[in-house]
Amino acid sequence: MLGLLVAYCALFGLVVGSFLNVVIYRVPRKESVVSPRSACPTCAMPITARDNVPIFSWLILHGRCRGCRSPISVRYPLIEAATAGLFAGVAARIGFSWALPAYLVLAAGLLALACTDLEHLLLPKRIVYPVLGMVGASLLAAAAITGRWHDLIVAGISALAWFGIFFVMNFVSPRALGFGDVRLAPVLGLALGWLGIRYVLLGFFTANLVGAVIGIALIASKRMSRGQQIPYGVFLAFGTLLAIFAGPELLRPFQSLRI
Ligand SMILES: [Zn+2]
Repeated sequence: MLGLLVAYCALFGLVVGSFLNVVIYRVPRKESVVSPRSACPTCAMPITARDNVPIFSWLILHGRCRGCRSPISVRYPLIEAATAGLFAGVAARIGFSWALPAYLVLAAGLLALACTDLEHLLLPKRIVYPVLGMVGASLLAAAAITGRWHDLIVAGISALAWFGIFFVMNFVSPRALGFGDVRLAPVLGLALGWLGIRYVLLGFFTANLVGAVIGIALIASKRMSRGQQIPYGVFLAFGTLLAIFAGPELLRPFQSLRI
């Protein structure tokens, strides 16, 4: 049965990934995500439904526009495949749980935000706030159905704690950590807090560790100068997803700590 859930979520992820492509391209450019319909950026020919099937259309058209044959970035099918993979992984990890929708929203949101942060150094409010709202509402619904109010309270407290810590970090070093990261922090606090305080600590630790290691490596190799802004949201997304996917294995040595 779990296999069926994973397969459904993977298919759903392909469709969501197609929408994320629109979000990732248009939101940083301050364009609407619902209209106009997608069109080829070179010849402006509208993309029809049959040419808009995730991954397959790109493969059948050999990565080119049907009208003018100009190349279409491989990024589009990659985002669709990545979303499908993330959704399958989340379904396999979270399983048949009322909290599953919250983690699917989280995975989709983090993928979109990691892309906009890498490309534009932006974590747009138009993505962060809807994700925060949907994750919060989904966990609230899950608590109401299952009676897991204790987990919801831990999630709420950890959201406030992450927000507070990032607010201070931004205050101390606004260039290293932008306010977009401060807005994103409570989303991650909520999602990891629901799983337990250990996950909150693991996500925070891995995000900062990976961010520091890559930051130092980039500065040491002169690819980046000191004080230059880094796409911190990418590391936050990575740390959070790692805590969700590999948390039980990574936390096993600390099981006796009972937190
Ligand atoms: Zn074209």
